[in-house]
Amino acid sequence: MIDQDKVREAVRLFLEGIGEDPDRAGLADTPDRVARMYQELAGGMDQDPGECLSRVFPVQDSGMVLERDIMFYSTCEHHLLPFFGKAHIAYVPDGRVVGLSKLARTVEIYARRLQIQEQMTAQIADAIMKYLKPKGVMVLVEAEHMCMTMRGVKKPGSQTVTIASRGVFQEQEELREQFFKMLGRGC
Ligand SMILES: [Zn+2]
Repeated sequence: MIDQDKVREAVRLFLEGIGEDPDRAGLADTPDRVARMYQELAGGMDQDPGECLSRVFPVQDSGMVLERDIMFYSTCEHHLLPFFGKAHIAYVPDGRVVGLSKLARTVEIYARRLQIQEQMTAQIADAIMKYLKPKGVMVLVEAEHMCMTMRGVKKPGSQTVTIASRGVFQEQEELREQFFKMLGRGC
């Protein structure tokens, strides 16, 4: 849980630190706004992906399930700036599936905290393996990082792509190829 008093105090100090006057009209409520906003932006830390991924339905002999274009917004833990983009998740069921909204929910839980994209990608794959127990899972995340695009090298629109594969996706190249093909990426 977030210590709102601490966040408010820290934001005030931060504003002073960058040479601002935290008492001027425009900034007077900023520490409080930021503290309340982080309740949401870091809210995923208090949520359990096992809760939504454990609500499963039986299926017989299903092929790959792909949920693509799951939009997410997260916060880079190195710079406290947003990174955002899309996650694509495929899995091969082992007799059970989850409602598709639960995959999006899982992305949301891991996005709503301070993150790095590589870690988020792996955490989503691992949570699905752990709770849904499919034959395999593959997660591809593509995102734009504001810490890259609004400063320094400034390459607007440049995307960072991360991939995690588990189980049969690790073992079978054809499955990975099918996944990329379904995403229209060929290979
Ligand atoms: Zn960053």
